[in-house]
Amino acid sequence: MQNKKFVFQNVLMIILWSLLLNTNISAKGLPEHTTKVANGVYTFGDPAAGYISMFVVTKKGVIVVEPNNTAHSTAMLKAIKKVTKKPIKYLLHSHNHWDHSGGGQVFRDVGATIIAHAEAYEWMKANPHDDMVLPDESWAGNRKNIELDKRTIELYYFGMNHGLGMTVFRLPKDKIIFIADIVTPNRLLFTIVPDFNVKEWIRTLKEIEEMDFEKVIFTHGSPTVGTKKDIAGNREFIEDLQNAIYAEFQKGTNPFMIPNVVKVPKYEEWAMYDEWLTMNAWRLLLDGHMGPFPWRPDHPYEMNK
Ligand SMILES: [Zn+2]
Repeated sequence: MQNKKFVFQNVLMIILWSLLLNTNISAKGLPEHTTKVANGVYTFGDPAAGYISMFVVTKKGVIVVEPNNTAHSTAMLKAIKKVTKKPIKYLLHSHNHWDHSGGGQVFRDVGATIIAHAEAYEWMKANPHDDMVLPDESWAGNRKNIELDKRTIELYYFGMNHGLGMTVFRLPKDKIIFIADIVTPNRLLFTIVPDFNVKEWIRTLKEIEEMDFEKVIFTHGSPTVGTKKDIAGNREFIEDLQNAIYAEFQKGTNPFMIPNVVKVPKYEEWAMYDEWLTMNAWRLLLDGHMGPFPWRPDHPYEMNK
């Protein structure tokens, strides 16, 4: 009897240790690189790789936002399967860029319908990539809803800001939004600020700040889940750097020297301050000098004959 009890205790210890040591299971019992933001709402992404996705689990299936690439999507599909046995119904793209729009085949293979905004769809069609598949469906205009079970995901298109067809996602019940690229908390603007129309970007951020939500999931940056304050913080950084550049002009600093000397000490603690400030300043300086770029008309127009 004594012996039996001893064996039982040993087996129990082994089970407990294996649970603790299993790297695929986090402290909360979630798969690796997976966090729960609300009931049925999860983020997935290896912080070292720098890309975060969202997946929403309902009784009728799963909605995935942001595939990024095949390696990321494969790992995410594994994680999703540990959370639920429900099928993946939709894969939603945030925008056109290759580094976000790759990996779709992983979810196509398990039967998901892939959806992107029409602008992103057209770009993807014109600019193929080995790791990117063309979505099954596209949507046009400023709004679309995806409904599954009793869940609604609202899709918002704000016009020009970054890339093409940039979509912000809102879960109205949970007051959560998902933002790719146009907000990265506590970090400078990405390198040379590629494919951003700064004026329209600021307008977009102000419009997002007016929306009804409490939490924001970001594709990049730390924290992964933030608040409205992080959105205002990014907008204020752009405005503060623009003002600092303008102040150098007023002082008579040689315009070609401004990116090397301009400072915004309020943001010294932000990630990549030393590395990217000069690049950020060049981009904003040229934008102020040449006018907003890239730019495109809102509506199709006819060429002069
Ligand atoms: Zn992008």
